[in-house]
Amino acid sequence: MRIANLSGRLHLLDGDLAIDVEKASDGQFGADPQAVYRRWAEFTGWAANTPLPGGVPFDRRELGSPAPAPAQVFAVGLNYDEHAAESGFSTPDNEPPVFTKFASSIAGPDCAVEIPDGGNVDWEVEVVAVIGTPAHRVGAADAWSHVAGLAVGQDISERVLQLAAAPPQFSLGKSYPNFGPVGPWLVTVDEFDNPDDLELGCAVNGETMQNGRTSEMIFPVARLVEKLSAVVPLRPGDVIFTGTPAGVGLGRQPQRWLRPGDELVSWVRGIGELRQRFVAARGTTKGSL
Ligand code: ZN
Repeated sequence: MRIANLSGRLHLLDGDLAIDVEKASDGQFGADPQAVYRRWAEFTGWAANTPLPGGVPFDRRELGSPAPAPAQVFAVGLNYDEHAAESGFSTPDNEPPVFTKFASSIAGPDCAVEIPDGGNVDWEVEVVAVIGTPAHRVGAADAWSHVAGLAVGQDISERVLQLAAAPPQFSLGKSYPNFGPVGPWLVTVDEFDNPDDLELGCAVNGETMQNGRTSEMIFPVARLVEKLSAVVPLRPGDVIFTGTPAGVGLGRQPQRWLRPGDELVSWVRGIGELRQRFVAARGTTKGSL
């Protein structure tokens, strides 16, 4: 099953067509895409057992993040050996480094991204897991049953701010507006032959920069849920950016950063793709909107 956020309304996807959930369920489930995770088991049971009306075509530009306002956003650094090496860090053995992307950075799958003045903006394609049922002190063996589904994510990162302080401040440097696109929709875990072995990659202006498989993760999704939930109760609709494979601009020689006019396309095979256009900063916002 695939669910999408179209113009802020929860939809089920049927091939290229979309079914509005509030209308199809006669109001049993609301339109808010973020709210559905609190009733995830009930919702998936309904969707699997109810004859649904025909869908209607939709425009990609209407897509928002399938989890647009998570209560908590987790992101994991250095979760692939070669990426840890290219970043100049040693590989974590027992504890994955965890930070957040502040929730205001979450965006839909297709958006323009402003490059902060003087910033070195980099790409990090990642699989994003969205929590479906509460998870606190969950073991790895049970962990997948708490995941609603997977989406493509970009952990866009401004490296000057990220690495300026000691210790480095990952969270702030990765949280400018639209630095966390997620989508294009959520694919439920049962749709994958093996959710632990997905191919992911990204390209800048058509040139492939990253290409890896999630089977190379040091802490696979189930271990991340175990590690995070050992400390923090995970809530329905929480988002986990699971780490990026090698090939980021920071690790290249010479280093390479995104420039105004660049187009970044990111994909996970079996899910879909994200498309970001980069633009120059338009200056400081003054006053209220
Ligand atoms: Zn990352």
